[in-house]
Amino acid sequence: MPASNYDFDLFVIGGGSAGVRCARIAAGHGARVGVAEERFWGGTCVNVGCVPKKLLVQAGEYGAWADDAAGFGWEIAKGPHSWQRLIAAKDQEINRLKGIYRRLLEGAGAKVFEARAVFLDAHTLDIGGARVTAENIVIAVGGHPTRPHIKGAHFGIISDDAFYLPELPRRVAVVGSGFIAVEFASIFAALGAHVDLVYRQPLPLRGFDQDVREALAESLADQGITLHPSHTPHEVQENGSARRLVLTHGDTIDTDLVFFATGRKPATAQLGLDKAGVALDEHGAVIINNARRSSQKHIYAIGDVTNRITLTPVAIAEGHALADTLFGENPRAISLDNVPAAVFTSPPIATVGLTEDEAAASGPVDIYVSKFTPMRHTLSGRVRKTMMKLVVDHQTKKVLGAHMLGEDAAEIMQGLAIAMVMGATKADFDRTIGIHPTAAEEFVTMRTRTRTVGLAQAAD
Ligand SMILES: Cc1cc2nc3c(=O)[nH]c(=O)nc-3n(C[C@H](O)[C@H](O)[C@H](O)COP(=O)(O)OP(=O)(O)OC[C@H]3O[C@@H](n4cnc5c(N)ncnc54)[C@H](O)[C@@H]3O)c2cc1C
Repeated sequence: MPASNYDFDLFVIGGGSAGVRCARIAAGHGARVGVAEERFWGGTCVNVGCVPKKLLVQAGEYGAWADDAAGFGWEIAKGPHSWQRLIAAKDQEINRLKGIYRRLLEGAGAKVFEARAVFLDAHTLDIGGARVTAENIVIAVGGHPTRPHIKGAHFGIISDDAFYLPELPRRVAVVGSGFIAVEFASIFAALGAHVDLVYRQPLPLRGFDQDVREALAESLADQGITLHPSHTPHEVQENGSARRLVLTHGDTIDTDLVFFATGRKPATAQLGLDKAGVALDEHGAVIINNARRSSQKHIYAIGDVTNRITLTPVAIAEGHALADTLFGENPRAISLDNVPAAVFTSPPIATVGLTEDEAAASGPVDIYVSKFTPMRHTLSGRVRKTMMKLVVDHQTKKVLGAHMLGEDAAEIMQGLAIAMVMGATKADFDRTIGIHPTAAEEFVTMRTRTRTVGLAQAAD
């Protein structure tokens, strides 16, 4: 069919971080664009992810600051926290953002559909009963949380539900130790719940740097969270509004809420992808090449549905680059090296580049670690340590990884990520003058190497 005979030059399925950016930029380049969203504009990040999560984190921080103020001479009598008021304020902000996302699309000239899109064939979609055709199609359907296959799993909640709980439970058992699990454990604890955290590994946050994982376990325990490492859930039992989580070792946890943060799955089921000839991997993720093309050359996939680095800024960058490539006469790829990331526990974690183990797998590395009590907590009396770490190539002295657990870690790491993307060496860090008094200055004043790893093997 000639291009002009299709209803759209580009149709985007999914109005989340990736899809909205791709549709908006493509429409701005003059393409005839349609975009379908079945649930909420802005997708996971805006509605049940990054944004509401960070608001809940901040709610917990205010409570801690009220307690800590006494150390600075304030007499503040902290009243009770209203979960209902917090959730209502959060909902109002999310509704505002959702409206902005929709208006951005319409303002750019994209045609929006509020319905589920399903492939009928490789160029045709059913959108809530309407049939549309497109020359190019982008799959940006994201993912959804999953429950483990255990007895009584339906008595537990998933992250989508956590943002709409009618009240703050007195006791919560969080299962999992990925970033969503530890963030919510921290949120519930900061708001006053007793939290049990159950995870299969000896330490939380698999895949992160070992020093970060150890510092996190310590800081979660300091927050009053009961850790159950090396445990897996076996069954959830219901007793009225209470729950009992039975672990495989036979231990039990009596709680009011079981929260499964045990993984997410690409939302590719019942999307008609078989009719479109789009291949999936064993996890249900769309398989793409470097140009984000699926097994059908005019069908692309971006964001979480590709199950690579499942973060909003990555999804946005992919959507933007694809729109520029297809319609902006600016074909470009994005690099997934040195993608910075944060985990919004209290205090937060942030990281960019390689872990010590990843870096040491390719050659010897110099390690610099610093642990201290940040200035605020010298007076607050709160036990909250900071840990900062640099991983440096022993030969070239290039900084390969930066990791931090401590106040403002995410804000600090964004700037360091620029230096790392530019290929900064330890000498570049050392000749940078610090800002005093900050925690961040520690990254440019770490002079004493903590250890060198892998030198013996390199000498062999
Ligand atoms: C609890 C939580 C916290 C998070 N925190 C962070 C964070 O702090 N920082 C960060 O960078 N990332 C965070 N993330 C990850 C981030 O939310 C995702 O990486 C990001 O939303 C991915 O964007 P996406 O566009 O690929 O998918 P989504 O945002 O999931 O968007 C996909 C959209 O497609 C729609 N859709 C699906 N199927 C169809 C269909 N057939 N027809 C029409 N519409 C459809 C869905 O309704 C959805 O709106 C978090 C995620 C969660 C769950």
